[in-house]
Amino acid sequence: MIRFQNVFKRYPERGDALSAIDFEIQTGEMVFLTGHSGAGKSTLLRLIGLLERPSRGQVLVNGRNLGTLPRRDIPHHRRQVGMIFQDHRLLSDRTVFDNVALPLVVTGIHSKEIERRVRAALDQVGLLARARATPLALSGGEQQRVGIARALVGRPPVLLADEPTGNLDPDLSREIFELFERFKYVGVTLLIATHDFELVNSRQHRTLTLDAGRLVSDTGAW
Ligand code: ADP
Ligand code: ADP
Repeated sequence: MIRFQNVFKRYPERGDALSAIDFEIQTGEMVFLTGHSGAGKSTLLRLIGLLERPSRGQVLVNGRNLGTLPRRDIPHHRRQVGMIFQDHRLLSDRTVFDNVALPLVVTGIHSKEIERRVRAALDQVGLLARARATPLALSGGEQQRVGIARALVGRPPVLLADEPTGNLDPDLSREIFELFERFKYVGVTLLIATHDFELVNSRQHRTLTLDAGRLVSDTGAW
């Protein structure tokens, strides 16, 4: 589902953020991406989401080489990849419902179908009752779950999460990971970047570790 072949990402004046990265993730795997701050985790996720392009090497998602993807196919690719961020990036002047509906509204899906899918996504993260609230009325953990509902509402086969529990206490972090583990059982491929080593060690999933832009360990499937 996701394949990196000798991938480098160089920022001018900063050197290589990623060097010679090779790995493959199968459909339905749940994988942690770990390493200290600055190791290259966000950069790696941004390459998969096609928010950036590699300086060298190939990134393949679902058999398609992102380096040669025609410009007109980029929106389609982005819909295949749901992204979850640490700061969840919710619109504070819109309701929970509208925040989750956003990715569907731009696709031109019929409003009845949007309503059905948004409710299903909110139900999956346990927030159906909060649909009419605004994000600021929610706790940090609830806000993060809205971000997750928004990422999964378009039913992308791939979910990427960048420090999804960065601002949460250990109990809430565990809840978020239990939520991710449920997606794994419906065949979603998940890659979760985190520097919470304790959390990674407490849950048995394949773990890729970056150190200064190099892939220094891959535990393989547990
Ligand atoms: P992590 O997510 O593991 O904290 P990042 O991928 O954010 O690491 O960063 C890896 C390295 O690349 C860091 O040295 C960072 O400063 C650098 N970097 C990331 N994005 C950019 C950018 N847009 N321009 C220049 N340097 C960047
Ligand atoms: P994260 O919490 O995901 O590691 P960062 O602080 O590394 O986030 O990056 C946040 C944003 O700033 C990203 O869009 C990244 O590209 C950019 N960025 C990170 N490091 C640098 C840098 N050294 N120079 C320019 N932009 C950077």
